[in-house]
Amino acid sequence: MWLAGLVTKREVEISRAILAQRLNVIDIENLSMGARLDPEFIDALRLSDKLLAMSPDGVLPRTEVAPIKEQAQEFITTILGASRTLVVAYQQELDAHLVAVAEKRQAESLRNLALLISLMILTSIFIGWSGIRFVRQVKRTQIYIDSEIVALEAARKELLKMNLTVSSLEELNDTKNDFISTVNHELRTPLTSIIGYIELLKSEIELGKDPQIDLIIDVVDKNALVLLDLVESILSLSRLDSKQNKPLFEEVNLINTVEKAIFVLTPQADLNHVDIKLAFNQDNDYLVMGDPNQLSQVFLNLISNAVKFSPENSEILITFSRVLNDQMENHISVSIIDNGIGIPEKEIPELFHRFFRASNAINKQIVGTGLGLAIVSKIIEIHKGKISVSSQENKGSTFRVEIPAFVSALDQRILDKRVEVLERAIVAIRNAEISKLKDVYHEMGGALGIYGLDELGSQVLELSRTLANRKMDEATVADQRVSLLETLNKSYQRLNNKGNI
Ligand code: ADP
Repeated sequence: MWLAGLVTKREVEISRAILAQRLNVIDIENLSMGARLDPEFIDALRLSDKLLAMSPDGVLPRTEVAPIKEQAQEFITTILGASRTLVVAYQQELDAHLVAVAEKRQAESLRNLALLISLMILTSIFIGWSGIRFVRQVKRTQIYIDSEIVALEAARKELLKMNLTVSSLEELNDTKNDFISTVNHELRTPLTSIIGYIELLKSEIELGKDPQIDLIIDVVDKNALVLLDLVESILSLSRLDSKQNKPLFEEVNLINTVEKAIFVLTPQADLNHVDIKLAFNQDNDYLVMGDPNQLSQVFLNLISNAVKFSPENSEILITFSRVLNDQMENHISVSIIDNGIGIPEKEIPELFHRFFRASNAINKQIVGTGLGLAIVSKIIEIHKGKISVSSQENKGSTFRVEIPAFVSALDQRILDKRVEVLERAIVAIRNAEISKLKDVYHEMGGALGIYGLDELGSQVLELSRTLANRKMDEATVADQRVSLLETLNKSYQRLNNKGNI
């Protein structure tokens, strides 16, 4: 183009500079383009550079064209030929490189595809396996549920059957009770008549005249009385067993009940020269909610047993106290303590079974039916109480009855405050200085007593009295306080169902 006068020398120089730059470019094999040129091309370039340098600036004048063209002819052909070869070689190399990259990518893609496929296969296997397991599990669960349903249905039917059996047994029991009750009523009338006539006979004949007759009358009299006792006891039990038995609960003072029983039993006790003593705290009341007749029967039976099984000239002690059960509810406890024949240890668990009589009572031929204690335990059960026995053969027995105490609405409100008062007492006792402990015990003991915690209150008051009357060293007082706090905390836990304060 320069030779044709179409571009200036300056433009050719710029193109030459660009070419030099291009020839310096490093290709993918870390070779410059210039390094690939053969020396012929380099020579041709140098010649062209020389020609250009010698030529005037601007467009080549027409006069200069012919001589330069002549000199340039040869290198133009060389440059063009070399350039073409260079471009082709470069292009081929580039193509090969691109093919290699493409092949590498393809191989990588194939590897990734294989990986993906394997992953998909594995996932499908896992899903399939889990699915099978799940289906199996569902099937197993279904089978289990089905069998449970069958079992439940069977249990329901069984329960229905048992309910029917229970109802028919209850009916049978009621019929039996009715029967026993009727029979015993029928027996009681002629029996009372027999006993009446024996009394009449005793007054009619001259006792002591004929010992044989006296003995016969005595035997008939005793046996008639035993029979009457048996009939009365069976009647009582069947009344207690009967569903129609609805005890009339009212406020009952157990001191009165026991005193009345003693009054009834005094002739028998006097005959045996047995002394009956009562011990209770005048300041307390011993009220319970209960059926007065049934409760009378309890103490008549227990005290008459105590009299019956006591030796002559012995003493029976009946004590009353207010106690707290495990749930810290107030109970009235009555203990009947005798010094009689006692009960063999092994036989104690059987005492409350119907018709059970201990071996020593049978051996000593002491009359009885073995029904009294069964009646007692049934009545106590109806009154939501409990009875316990401790006994030693030939030493004596203690029968202890506990019945829930009667609680008035006002008392109930006071009782509801117990936790609060106990908490206050524990904190006050724990924080008191040793020198002030006596007064704190006094105050808190009183408060505990007022709020229905009688036993704890007395215990605390007792400690206050001891501190007032006796000189004690600080360590002992502190030890006493620790064990008192333990006791108070135990009660607090029972009342509150919570931990210590
Ligand atoms: P019963 O006194 O009519 O035999 P209970 O049911 O009242 O019938 O008493 C059952 C048995 O318990 C008595 O036979 C006797 O062996 C024994 N028992 C009851 N109370 C006492 C007691 N206080 N001392 C010794 N044994 C007693």
